[in-house]
Amino acid sequence: MSLKRKSSILLTVRFRLTLIYTALFAVLSLAVFLLTYLVLASGLQQRIDADLQKSAKEFEAIYRTQGIKALSDDFRHESEAKGIEDVFFRLLSPHRELLASSNLRAWGELAEKTSLAAPPHKGLAFITIALSGHHYKVRVASSNLGEGNTLQIGYSLNDNDKLINHVRETFLLAFALTLICGCGIGWFVGKRAMSGVDRITQIAAHIGQGNIASRVILYNEGKEIDDLCMAFNNMLERIQVLVTELKEVTENMAHDLRSPITRIRGLAEMTLTGEQHLEDYQDMAGMIVEESDHLIAIINTMLEIAKVDSGIEKFLRMPVDMSEIVRTAGELFRPFAEDKGLYLEVDVPSEALIVYGDSTKLQRVIANLLDNAIKYTSTGKVLLSARETQSNVVISVIDSGTGITEKDLPHIFERFYRGDQSRSTPGNGLGLSLAQTYVHAHEGNITVESFQGMGSTFIVSVPCGPSVS
Ligand code: ADP
Repeated sequence: MSLKRKSSILLTVRFRLTLIYTALFAVLSLAVFLLTYLVLASGLQQRIDADLQKSAKEFEAIYRTQGIKALSDDFRHESEAKGIEDVFFRLLSPHRELLASSNLRAWGELAEKTSLAAPPHKGLAFITIALSGHHYKVRVASSNLGEGNTLQIGYSLNDNDKLINHVRETFLLAFALTLICGCGIGWFVGKRAMSGVDRITQIAAHIGQGNIASRVILYNEGKEIDDLCMAFNNMLERIQVLVTELKEVTENMAHDLRSPITRIRGLAEMTLTGEQHLEDYQDMAGMIVEESDHLIAIINTMLEIAKVDSGIEKFLRMPVDMSEIVRTAGELFRPFAEDKGLYLEVDVPSEALIVYGDSTKLQRVIANLLDNAIKYTSTGKVLLSARETQSNVVISVIDSGTGITEKDLPHIFERFYRGDQSRSTPGNGLGLSLAQTYVHAHEGNITVESFQGMGSTFIVSVPCGPSVS
C-alpha cells in the first residue's frame, strides 16, 4: 500500500470511528475489570478476616480456660487439619519469645518477624505481609491475650491470589476479544454510516465526467443520510434544469442574435453589389441602425434579467402608487390601441394603491403586458384594471385577442420563447421573462389564463407592505 493511500485511510471517518469504538470498548472493559477486581478482592479479604477473627476467639477461649499447653495442642491439631503450609498459629511473650506455635517449618522467615502488627488493647490488628520463599502473601491477625502475651494467626492467601490471577487472565483474554470486537464494530458502523456519503462521492465523480442525469439511490440508511441524499438529488435536479435552461437560452440567444446580424450582413452585401447610389447607402445605414437597436435591446434585456435574477442589482424600495402607474400606462398606450381600432378601458380607483418597490420596473411590467395585449389583439378591447385585496395590489390586463395555445401556455415566461402564431409579430420573446423577473423581485406573483381564440388574462399581484429584503 502506498504511503499516500495509507495516510488517506488514516484521515477517513471510518478509521476515526474505529479508533473511537476501540478506545471506548477498552475503557469500558477496564472499568468493569477494575470494579470486579476491587469488589472481589475486598470480599475475599473480608471473608479471610472473618475466619481469622473466629479462630482468634476460639484460641482465646482455650487460652483462658485451659492454658498455654492446651493452646499449643490445639495450634498443632488445627494447623494439621488446615495444612501446615496454609496456616500458622503462635503465642508470643511480652519479650517476643515463642510460648507456643503450630508447625512453622514451612514459614521460614516468620521466626524473625515477631512484631508484625502491634495488637490493640482490645480486638484484632490485621496486616498482609510477604515472606521471602513463600510464594503467596499472608494475612495475619494479632490479638492481645492479656499479661502482654500476643496471639498471632496467619492464613496464606494462595487460594485468593489464585482466584484473582485467574480473574486477571480471563480479563486479559476478554479484553483482547473486546478490542477486536471494538475494532470490527467501529469499522462496520463507520462503513455503514459513510456508505451514503460514499455513494454521493461516486455520483459526484460520475457527474464530473459529464453524466448529469445520475442520481443517488436511497436505501433507508437513517434520516440524516437519506436527507443528505435527497438534498443532493434535489440540487442535481436544480442544476440539471439550470444547465438545460442555460443551453436553451444560449441556443435561442444565438438564434435571435444571428437573425439580425444575418440581415445586417445581407443589407450590406446587397448595397455593395447593387448600383451604389447615395440613397441606397442611406437606406442601408437606416436599416442597420434599426437592426442594431433591436440587437442592443435584446442584449440589454438579457443583462437586466440576469442582474435582477442573480440579486446583483439592488432594488429601490420606495412607496409607489400603482393607481398612478396604471393610469399613466393607460394614457400612454391608448393611442396605439386606437390606431389598431381597439378600445382600451382603464379601471383604477381614485385613491392611491401603495406598494414598496421600484416604480420604473413596475412601470415596465405594466407596459410589457399592455404592449402584448394590444399586439396580440386585432378586434375588441383591452381592459387594464387595478384593485387592492387584503395584502396585495392586483393589476389585471385582459384582452380579447388571439389567446395562447395549450402548447405555448406553460412556456411563455421562458426566455426567448415565442408562441408559434406570434412569429409574424415583432418581438424577441423576452418581455414576459423580464416582467416575471421584476414581479418576483418584488415578492409578487404573475399568472396567466388564456384560451386560444378567446383572449388572455394576465394578473400581477404585488404585496402592499414594505418588503423584508
Ligand atoms: P414577445 O411578445 O416579444 O414574443 P413575450 O415574452 O412578451 O415575447 O411573450 C412571449 C409569448 O407569449 C409571445 O410570443 C406570445 O406567443 C405569448 N403572449 C404574450 N402575451 C400574449 C397575449 N396578450 N396574447 C396572446 N399571446 C401572448
